[in-house]
Amino acid sequence: MIQISQHRKKCIGCNACVEAAPGRWVISQKDGKSTLVGGSVKKDMYVVNVHDDEWEENSKAAEVCPVRIIRLKTL
Ligand code: SF4
Repeated sequence: MIQISQHRKKCIGCNACVEAAPGRWVISQKDGKSTLVGGSVKKDMYVVNVHDDEWEENSKAAEVCPVRIIRLKTL
């Protein structure tokens, strides 16, 4: 398992994570920020645990995020 987290408040809605991992990220129609699909809020962070096979595209998402608010770790 891997854990993906996002400091959503700092998102600038650039869409780069959606392009990298379209199954896991979606731009909210409400506020224009990216939402972590399946995520729940923990303190200031949105967090979700997913299968290892999502590592590659989500590490790409983390890499291309211009404000560096996406983190991945193995569980
Ligand atoms: S790449 Fe980063 S700043 Fe851009 S929409 Fe995704 S989370 Fe937000």
